[in-house]
Amino acid sequence: MTLGVLGGGQLGRMLALAGHPLGLSFTFIDPSPEAPMSAVARAITAAFDDPEALRRFASSATLGTWEFENIPIQTVRSLTRDIEIYPPLAALEVKRDRHTEKSFFRELGIPVAPFAPAGSSEELEAALQSIGFPCVVKTRRHGYDGKGQAVLDTPRDAGAVWDLLGREPLIVERKIPFDRELSIVAVRGRGGPGVPAEELFYPLIENRHEAGILRTSRAPAVASPELTATSRDMALRILRKLDYVGTLALELFQVGDQLLANEMAPRVHNSGHWTIEGADTSQFENHLRAGLGWRLGSTGPVGESLMVNLIGTLPDREAVLACPGAHLHLYGKEAKPGRKLGHVTIHGRSRDEVERSAIELGRILDPQGC
Ligand code: ATP
Ligand code: MG
Repeated sequence: MTLGVLGGGQLGRMLALAGHPLGLSFTFIDPSPEAPMSAVARAITAAFDDPEALRRFASSATLGTWEFENIPIQTVRSLTRDIEIYPPLAALEVKRDRHTEKSFFRELGIPVAPFAPAGSSEELEAALQSIGFPCVVKTRRHGYDGKGQAVLDTPRDAGAVWDLLGREPLIVERKIPFDRELSIVAVRGRGGPGVPAEELFYPLIENRHEAGILRTSRAPAVASPELTATSRDMALRILRKLDYVGTLALELFQVGDQLLANEMAPRVHNSGHWTIEGADTSQFENHLRAGLGWRLGSTGPVGESLMVNLIGTLPDREAVLACPGAHLHLYGKEAKPGRKLGHVTIHGRSRDEVERSAIELGRILDPQGC
């Protein structure tokens, strides 16, 4: 059985690493010959809109999925004529535009920060007026890791912001003074005639971002049963509305005992990497099991986990491995500032145990910081 994966980044690489023990094979398509998955699976190196490459991709795979959401929608649509692609295309259509995504949340009764779209410098002026300051201005499409965003703490000239963000459609959001950021990773199976789809949730995850990039994820987050229930209800509304299949992550802001949805990822997600060591079944394996129509694996946590992203520089490998409970995952990428090169998950029986090891890891990753 061969899975076709659109995109060959680290998420694809970890999908393949989760699928190999299950006897699955993989074919990837990615424009870069150095895509992180190339060390672990077969790749078609081609643009996502190369018709001949897409034909080869479709004929070599039994089932398809994506690990990257900025795939041309036309590509996914044309592939669905030849192979089944999951999650449903509708999830990608919602996700690829931040305004569509926020409107979708609102329609489902999921609270979000006040927002307004802006398709021109004049509209931006009006949107800034209506949302007020501080706010975050984001490009509607193609943003990731905080790219294509500007935080405006005080009034600024709309024309200058319009130029700065590349003169493309924008969304203005109120900047939320959140207490913390959380995410919920959910997985939904296929179900069948008379059999409801399985719907499972990993425990809530607490995330810390710096400069728009995820730095650390802790799981299980310390959270009240009410908060957990609210986050699950939000994710469930999305899963059911889309008749979703696969893993989905929802990023949240916590303000007091309220949750606001920031964005969703209709795929495996960076804040779920800890599940490789820290849960009964990883988000990657469950994404595969869901697509294949297999029973899902338990999403229960195994002890405590802290995931630390390796951004920009590679650490001393042996020093990292000497930290108790540390598991190193390198993505095979060339080091560049701001680039996610790998992650470390510290896994332990108790929070104290993880904390002690995290201090040691902190010294290794940032010797000047201590
Ligand atoms: P990623 O791909 O890393 O998830 P992204 O580029 O898609 O990020 P967002 O998730 O929208 O962008 O924003 C990145 C981070 O910026 C958020 O996790 C949060 O820390 C901050 N941020 C974004 N929007 C807001 C907001 N409205 N109020 C407060 N902080 C925000
Ligand atoms: Mg985000």
